[in-house]
Amino acid sequence: MSVFNSNVSAEQLRTWDNAHVWHPFTPMRAYVEEHAPIIVAGKGFELIDVDGRKYLDGISSLWCNVHGHRVPEIDDAIRNQLDRVSHSTMLGLSSEVSIRLARALVDVTPDGLTRVFYSDSGATAVEVALKLAYQYHQQKSVPENSRDTFISVGNAYHGDTLGSVSVGGMDVFHRTYTNLLFPTVTVPSPVATRVPDGYDCDSWLQFCFDRAAELIQKNHQRAAGFVIEPLVQGAAGILVHPPGYLRHIRQLCTEFNVPLIADEVAVGFGRTGTMFACEQEAVVPDLMCVAKGITGGYLPLAATLATDEIHDAFLGTPESGRTFYHGHTYTGNPLGCAAALASLQRFQEHGLLDNVTAAAELIADELGQLNNHRHVGEIRQKGLMVGIELVRDRRTMEPFAMPLRVGHQVTVVARRKGLIIRPLGDVIVLMPAPSMPLSLIQRMCALTIEAIEEVVSQFE
Ligand SMILES: *Cc1c(COP(=O)(O)O)cnc(C)c1O
Repeated sequence: MSVFNSNVSAEQLRTWDNAHVWHPFTPMRAYVEEHAPIIVAGKGFELIDVDGRKYLDGISSLWCNVHGHRVPEIDDAIRNQLDRVSHSTMLGLSSEVSIRLARALVDVTPDGLTRVFYSDSGATAVEVALKLAYQYHQQKSVPENSRDTFISVGNAYHGDTLGSVSVGGMDVFHRTYTNLLFPTVTVPSPVATRVPDGYDCDSWLQFCFDRAAELIQKNHQRAAGFVIEPLVQGAAGILVHPPGYLRHIRQLCTEFNVPLIADEVAVGFGRTGTMFACEQEAVVPDLMCVAKGITGGYLPLAATLATDEIHDAFLGTPESGRTFYHGHTYTGNPLGCAAALASLQRFQEHGLLDNVTAAAELIADELGQLNNHRHVGEIRQKGLMVGIELVRDRRTMEPFAMPLRVGHQVTVVARRKGLIIRPLGDVIVLMPAPSMPLSLIQRMCALTIEAIEEVVSQFE
């Protein structure tokens, strides 16, 4: 069978998948036993596999899809760009769509962010922000060479390249690489799902606010920046921060002159109910990273937005060495930029944020059924980012034993029922596209509840 023949059988594809494809974040020995769907097409909010089965896309194809699959306006925008050019470099050269998109991004992001540095993924957008912040202090009008570390939040996830991992705080993902990472200062994640001995919810959150203030004050001469996922720490299990936390951090960063780096990779483009999460606390970061939803979930593209203050520190004669020597080959790819422009236009034209509000309310209602469930420890939600934490016993919050892979079992059962979801440990994540219609939101919730019930019933 030739690989160049598009009619390769399902069985052959499965064999080659298991023989050659190394999947990200996937235990490969278990994977080959699982017969995961092989996706061949998508339409609207469904994915279709090689056997013709349809699945509701309950996680926006890993948190990036916005308007559904095969959206005519975005498809056309990419086709039109294909008829012009698929790629040209941004190193010392420009392209029409990347200019228009930069302008559109500046318009839609918080005021004060005026400069757009393109890259290809969330991780690279964060790397760019870290390097920009670091170099900025050495080149600003009164240089400070002491700024050699970053402040980050416990349980953070900022991507998988080593700089991004350095400011991350998820033990399971990051522990292996400890010796390769640069040291950071970590403030505690302000969430009270489980609180240390001697605290209750309120006193623990107060401690987190105070501790952040203390550590920023103590380390401000060394801190090149404070990196945060605004409002929601996604990969940590959809941890929702208390109101006022982001604003608190912004005020401290302003007071102590530490640039604030907002990683809006997951929360950006409508996911939390506003276009960007920072808006909800009227916060303007100094650097802002966007990726996942930027192209509507179509193509790999990312951007790091910066203020004039940061950008201008990089100006000088070519030989002054103030240039930002960083870039990726496909940076600002025109097909990606064309998709992103079409996606932003749809945001304006389709009242998408209203749908997010309605869909979020519906999800809260539907999942209310699980509120007193013995195996549901907590339901966390901000807009369309939802985490349902499954536990052995909700009164003690005792987790299920890891080898049971309860979260994973739920997603396997959900697939059988026609829903694609992906857990974070035993947290079942729902992350529907911001434009998913309410009828499908309802189906997604119903299938999720069924799948949870089916899996946890074995523990009764
Ligand atoms: C997904 C994610 C990233 C990494 O983005 P990639 O495109 O996967 O590199 C960074 N930050 C946050 C908050 C994310 O959720």
